[in-house]
Amino acid sequence: MAGLFFPVGGFDPLGSADSLARQTANAAMQAAASQKSETECLREQVERITLLNQALWEIVRDRLQLSDGDLEKVAQEVDLRDGKQDGRLSEHPLQCPRCGRVSNSRHKKCLYCGLLFEGDAFG
Ligand SMILES: [Zn+2]
Repeated sequence: MAGLFFPVGGFDPLGSADSLARQTANAAMQAAASQKSETECLREQVERITLLNQALWEIVRDRLQLSDGDLEKVAQEVDLRDGKQDGRLSEHPLQCPRCGRVSNSRHKKCLYCGLLFEGDAFG
């Protein structure tokens, strides 16, 4: 019966929908897999940075005869530099009121003229 014949590559609504669904599912799975690998990559970077940070701290602590309490005290001071004690260092550009150049809030003083920044007074 000529009415039921679909030539190769011709219109096949059910087959196309099925194929599209399969392609969409495959694309979603690939996206999930690539996000997982990006997450894994970030996790590895954090672990490496944590390891190096610990090693650096132990070198500095032992050579300068500091204590973990000294580190914690400075960490709290740095934490408060953005005006919030939240365990995070929020960074934002700061325009120096003396020289007008832009530094980052993570710095304690202007990188260009040395003016000491205080808290988030310039944020
Ligand atoms: Zn300055």
